[in-house]
Amino acid sequence: VLNLNRKLVFGLLVRHPGRIHSATVKSVDTFKSTAMVEWQERKMSRGKEFGESSRPNQKFYEMIQDFRETLEILPITTSDPIEPHKICVCVRKRPLNKQECNKKEIDVVSVPGKGTLLVHEPKQKVDLTKYLENQVFHFDYSFDENATNELVYMFTAKPLVQSIFQGCMATCFAYGQTGSGKTHTMGGDFTGKQQNSARGIYALAAQDVFTNLNHRRFANQDLCVYVSFFEIYNGKVYDLLNKKAKLRVLEDDRQQVQVVGLEEVCVFSAEDVIKIIQTGSACRTSGQTSANANSSRSHAILQIVLRCNNRAATLHGKFSLVDLAGNERGTDVSSNDRSTLVETSEINRSLLALKECIRSLGKNSDHIPFRMSTLTKVLRDSFIGEKSRTCMIAMVSPGMASCEYTMNTLRYADRYRDGVMLRRQFY
Ligand code: ADP
Ligand code: MG
Repeated sequence: VLNLNRKLVFGLLVRHPGRIHSATVKSVDTFKSTAMVEWQERKMSRGKEFGESSRPNQKFYEMIQDFRETLEILPITTSDPIEPHKICVCVRKRPLNKQECNKKEIDVVSVPGKGTLLVHEPKQKVDLTKYLENQVFHFDYSFDENATNELVYMFTAKPLVQSIFQGCMATCFAYGQTGSGKTHTMGGDFTGKQQNSARGIYALAAQDVFTNLNHRRFANQDLCVYVSFFEIYNGKVYDLLNKKAKLRVLEDDRQQVQVVGLEEVCVFSAEDVIKIIQTGSACRTSGQTSANANSSRSHAILQIVLRCNNRAATLHGKFSLVDLAGNERGTDVSSNDRSTLVETSEINRSLLALKECIRSLGKNSDHIPFRMSTLTKVLRDSFIGEKSRTCMIAMVSPGMASCEYTMNTLRYADRYRDGVMLRRQFY
């Protein structure tokens, strides 16, 4: 056990050679004996603290806690460098919520920092021996449960706001299981049922757009700002700024895609945008009792468009901020009715199409399979050429009950998957 443990420490050191873990400088014997004593002591104190078997998965809880003590945790901070990326992939873990804490749910996700995230997957052998399968994932940035929306914004969407002033087509996606924090991150945190729209990535991006607009560097470009907000449900587009009017998506002979009749509101301040976000979000969640229109089953897209103040209002740059539909698979859906199945397959199709388009963009491929779904069709601009910038924020829930979905989310987003699986066994 201890040797395997040391392998993990070593594995982390290989990737972060600047960090030395105290365990590596001890001789093997000293290490074993001190570690053993420490482990026993920890176990005893923890037993007192929580009472043995005070939670349904006490054994796993202890194994994870033991494992965490071998990790060096250096969370990302505002003073960390922000590197420019054409495609940036990040992960954010939300805290356990009240309900989960009441149920004594265990947190199976650790974020040591530097873009790393670990999942401690609880497993059981045929002979009922419990063990953890600890999997390491690497991203451009990883955010733990204490990260604020402002911090996440700084590393993800903020660089994209700068890019649209240079004429880029930028897109920022929130991806993950329903309940993992997509809307919290994009639209703002919740105090009870009320969403604080001024503190989400949408609003923070809008504020920076206006700060830039008034900056003397861009003041002479004579740009103006427009906003649209729409939803894609079952492959159909609905305008959130026009009472969910159903809109058509058309492609002309030059492959330009248009959402016909989409409301585009001219805005003059960040407050204007926040009002629009509130109107659109209220429209999105209204009528959820009808057969369709559950917000977790639709993609919501807020677009901030920069246009030149000339007669033709030429497009200068565009930022699309996307709160994607929940990625949980159809197996999870309790009802088996046809409309739910159609919904699920449509969501899977669009998320697959999105992955393919981002992959093609990453490979600088000429062929972008944007026609695979309505989502990728309306975002076509964002997947072509030198002027594309993309950021994907994968959201994960920390609970053991969500482990399988969390793994799916991470596999989807993972670009540098560590082939090595670190396994730790307890007898
Ligand atoms: P999703 O849009 O992915 O379905 P939500 O954003 O609605 O998920 O989040 C589900 C719940 O978790 C909400 O009550 C939200 O306030 C809470 N939550 C999500 N992320 C965080 C976070 N980082 N910190 C605190 N609470 C969060
Ligand atoms: Mg949501």
